[in-house]
Amino acid sequence: MILRPPKWINLPLCSIKYLLLGFFIYFIFFKMSPLQVEAFLKSPYNLVADVKMLKFFLDPSRITLTTLACLVVLSVSIGNFWCRYLCPYGALLGLLAYASPFQIKHNQETCINCMKCEKTCPMSIEITNKTILRSPECIGCLDCISKCPVKGSLFLQGPCNKKVWPFVIPIGTIITILIFWLAARATNHWTSAIPPEAFKQLYSALF
Ligand code: SF4
Ligand code: SF4
Repeated sequence: MILRPPKWINLPLCSIKYLLLGFFIYFIFFKMSPLQVEAFLKSPYNLVADVKMLKFFLDPSRITLTTLACLVVLSVSIGNFWCRYLCPYGALLGLLAYASPFQIKHNQETCINCMKCEKTCPMSIEITNKTILRSPECIGCLDCISKCPVKGSLFLQGPCNKKVWPFVIPIGTIITILIFWLAARATNHWTSAIPPEAFKQLYSALF
């Protein structure tokens, strides 16, 4: 059974990811100079960060295993535990979502207050007391819309207050990623400036 933490504990727990985000922003933008940031990005440590991560999981310490076990138990008991409370990247994406041209619209005139939308929301967002849902906690799963029994009471609204087909979001995301990928390839920004030999040297030093 998925637990739904009560509001008084949900709110302080949600704030952890914003504190972590603030910590990273503070150190990157206020404690590091542009030259230091560039030096870090080009450092051997950062160049093979993905392989280091793989090694971290292939050869886990006791602390790593205990932490992972706790996270698995918490994630099984509380939906989206990691993204919801601890992920600073999730916090950043949630804040950027305020600029999204898409939002969930709630029509209070046709709503029958069955609360199916709120009961199904994995992020425990209060939906029915708003006409436009803008929450950094919303993960855009659209489960609330699919569970609403009254057609038109809850729907996705796009630019110019137009009702849009919900699949516009995943399809639009894939198209946007493809456009960026094609643009990067066309302008020679897709390939790495680091020669493959340098990567080979760094990888062999790790294993
Ligand atoms: S889209 Fe998902 S996360 Fe957002 S309010 Fe609806 S059910 Fe909750
Ligand atoms: S599921 Fe639809 S009808 Fe029921 S409370 Fe939510 S918006 Fe209203």
